[in-house]
Amino acid sequence: MRDFSHDHSMLALNTATLGHNLEGHGAGWSPEQVIEACAERGLGGITFWRREIGRRAIEIGDRVRGAGMQVAGLCRTPFLTGPLAPPNRQAIIDDFKASIEMAHELGAPVLTIVTGGVIEGSHSITESLSRVQELVAAMAPVAADANVVLALEPLNPVYGGNRSCLVTVRDAIDMCQAIGADNVQIAIDVYHVWWDTSLAAELKRAGKGRIAGYHLCDWLADTTDVQLDRGMMGDGVADLRQIRAAVEATGYDGYCEVEIFSAANWWKRPPGEVLDTIVERFRAVC
Ligand code: ZN
Repeated sequence: MRDFSHDHSMLALNTATLGHNLEGHGAGWSPEQVIEACAERGLGGITFWRREIGRRAIEIGDRVRGAGMQVAGLCRTPFLTGPLAPPNRQAIIDDFKASIEMAHELGAPVLTIVTGGVIEGSHSITESLSRVQELVAAMAPVAADANVVLALEPLNPVYGGNRSCLVTVRDAIDMCQAIGADNVQIAIDVYHVWWDTSLAAELKRAGKGRIAGYHLCDWLADTTDVQLDRGMMGDGVADLRQIRAAVEATGYDGYCEVEIFSAANWWKRPPGEVLDTIVERFRAVC
C-alpha cells in the first residue's frame, strides 16, 4: 500500500468539493482559479464536471497540464435509466457521445458513469441493470476510439430509486465482465462502499486493471442529507485505510480523488481553506 504521509502528488480534487458551480453553492471559482489553487498546493490532478467546462474543454485541459498537473477525469455521462434520464434512447446516446467527446478534448482519461435509477413503472432493478449494460456496451467502442475509459460507479443503495440502479461493487464487476471491454471499468467511492464488508473479496474477484478511480470523503455518523452532507476524511466512520488497501491490492496506482458534496459545511468555507484541509487530512488519515 502506498505511503502518502509525506507525499500528496497522487491527490486529486474533484471540483464537486468546492461546489462545482452548482447554482447557489460554493464560491463560484472559475476553472482557472481552481487550477491555480491546486497547483500552488502541489496536488497532482483535477476532475471536472461538464457544467464547468462548457465549450472550453481543450483550453482548460491544456491549462491543467501547463500548471504541472493532469486532468484526472470528467463527471459524467447522462443518467441512462430512471426518472432523471433524458426522455428517449436517442437523447441518451447523443448526450453520452457528447460527454465522451468532452472527455477526449479535455484529455480526461476517465469518464464516470452514474447509471440512473430504476426504469419508471418497471419495479425491476434487474431489467434496469440490463438496460444500463446494453447502453454501456454500445458506447464502449466509441469511448475506446476517443481513448476514454468508462468508469461504472456503484452508488450507495440509498440512491437506488432515482439515481443509480447499480448499488453494489458486485453488480458493477458482473457488468464489467459481461461487457468484456478493456475500457469499461469501475470507480470505487468511499461514500458508496464504506459499509460493504465484501469489498476486498469482490475487488479480488474483479482482478487486475479493473479500477479506474478511487474517490475519497467520509460517511458522517449523524449525516443529515444523503446527497449533500458528505464528510471530510477523518470526520466520519469509514475505515479509509482498509478501503484503500483493498483498492490498491488490485494493483490500482492512480489518483485518490477527493469528492465531498457538502452544502451546509465545506461549500460554505473559503476554497483555500478546504484545499488546505484536504491536503492535511490526506496525509494524516487516508
Ligand atoms: Zn464518486
